[in-house]
Amino acid sequence: MSKVVTRFPPSPTGHLHIGGARTALFNWLLARNKGGKFILRIEDTDLDRSSKEMTKSIIEAMEWLGLTWDEGPYFQTKRFDIYQHHIKLLINQGKAYYCKCTREEVDEMRKKAMDKGEKPKYDGRCRELGLGPGEGRVVRFKAPLRGETVFNDLLKGPIAVDNRELDDFIIKREDGSPTYNLAVVVDDATMGVTHILRGDDHINNTPKQVLLYEALGYQVPKFAHVPMILGPDKKKLSKRHGAKSVLEYKELGYLPEAVLNYLVRLGWSYKDQEIFTLEEMIKKFSIKRLSNSACVFDPEKLKWVNSQHIKKKDKRELAILLRKYLANQGIVTQDISYLEKIVPLLQPRSHTMVEMAEKAKFFVIEDEKIEYPKDTLEKFLTQEVKAHLVELTNRFSSLEEFSINSLEDVTRQYLEEKNIKFKLLAQPIRICITGQTASPGLFETMEVLGKDRTLNRLNRALRLV
Ligand code: GLU
Repeated sequence: MSKVVTRFPPSPTGHLHIGGARTALFNWLLARNKGGKFILRIEDTDLDRSSKEMTKSIIEAMEWLGLTWDEGPYFQTKRFDIYQHHIKLLINQGKAYYCKCTREEVDEMRKKAMDKGEKPKYDGRCRELGLGPGEGRVVRFKAPLRGETVFNDLLKGPIAVDNRELDDFIIKREDGSPTYNLAVVVDDATMGVTHILRGDDHINNTPKQVLLYEALGYQVPKFAHVPMILGPDKKKLSKRHGAKSVLEYKELGYLPEAVLNYLVRLGWSYKDQEIFTLEEMIKKFSIKRLSNSACVFDPEKLKWVNSQHIKKKDKRELAILLRKYLANQGIVTQDISYLEKIVPLLQPRSHTMVEMAEKAKFFVIEDEKIEYPKDTLEKFLTQEVKAHLVELTNRFSSLEEFSINSLEDVTRQYLEEKNIKFKLLAQPIRICITGQTASPGLFETMEVLGKDRTLNRLNRALRLV
C-alpha cells in the first residue's frame, strides 16, 4: 500500500476552533498511526476574508497542540499558476468552458428553475458556445448531464448523486482566482493526499470534487465525512455556545494533551477508555472506530479531562508551566524547584493551570504580602486561640527537621498536653499561613512553605491581632 498522506487545510478567516482542531487531529492521528505524512495547507484564496493574522494564529494553535506537520504550510495564494495550468487543461480538453452570463442572468435562471419546482441551477447556456476569455467571464466545469457520481464514504458508506442535480459549477472566478472546489482538488491531487477526513458540512462538495479528479485523470482519494460537533441545543457548535478558540483554552489553563484527548473522544472511541496519552491515541486510532453520530460539546467534561491530565503530568513540566501561569497573574518567580514541591499538593485539586496558579499564589508571594480578609484574624484568633498559637509557634521554631511527621508529632503532643482538639487550632493556623480558609493539608503546606516562611507568617499574623 502506498504511504498514507493526510492534510489539514484551514481557511485563515478566523482562529482555530474546536471543530477545526478535531479535524486536524483526526488527520494527524491517521498519518501518525500509519507512519504517513501530514500536510498543513492554508486556503487563503478568499482574499477579502483571509488575513495574515489569522494564519499566524492558526499556526500558533497547531504548534501549541503539537500537531506537527511534515510538509507546508503551503499557501494557496502562492499556487495560482498550478491552478491556472489545470483550468487550462480542462478547457483545452473540452471539460470546462468560459461563461459570459452575468450574475443577474444566473439568478434569473435559478429563479425560473425554482418556480418550476426544480433545483436552482445554471442552465448551461454557454456550454457549447466555445467562448474565450474576456472581461467578466468565469470558467465553468462541464458536469455530466446523465448518470450518477458515486463515492464510498469510509464512514457513511456509498453515496450516489444524480448528475442532473449538479450544476456546471464555477472553477475560475471573474477575477481569475480559482474556486475552493478546483483549488482543493488540484492541491490534494498534486500533493498526493490519500485520505481526506473532514466535517460532513463538506459532503455536498465531494461529488463535484470527485468529478474534477476524474476529469483531470487523478486518482480519487478516500473520504470520511465526520458529523459536526453540536452545542447542547443540538445545533452546530458555535461561539454562541461558549465554544472558544484553541488558543483561548491555552489562556484558560488547559493542557494541549487534554484538549486533544477531549477532542479525539468527540467522534472516536476505543472501548470505554476516556483518558488517553498522545502515544495511546496514535497507537489506537483508526477510521473504523470513528462514529457516525453527532457529538455534543461539553465544557464540563473538557475540564474533567484536563484535571485528569494535570494529575498525570510530570511534576517538573507542570512546575515550568505553573511559573508561566503565575506570571500571567502578575507573580514572578524563578524558583522552579520550589514550584516543583508545590505542584503535587495542587495536582489533585486543580482543573486548570489557571486554577493551579490561583491556588499556588499564597505559597509564592512574600510573607508580608499575605492579605487577611477583613475581620478574619479577629474572628479566628480569639484570645484563647492566640495564646495557644504563640506557644505552638515556639515549639515549631525549635524543630530541627521541619517535616510533615515532625510537625504532626509536636502538634499532637501539644494538643494532648492542653487537652484540646485540633479543630480549635487547624483553621486559625491555616488562615495565618495562607490568608485563606481553604488550602491543601496543613502539615503538607507547612512542610512545603518551609520553616522560615511558616514561622514568619504565624508571627506576623499573631502580631496583627
Ligand atoms: N478550507 C476548507 C475549510 O476550511 C477545507 C475543506 C476541506 O477539507 O476540503 O473548510
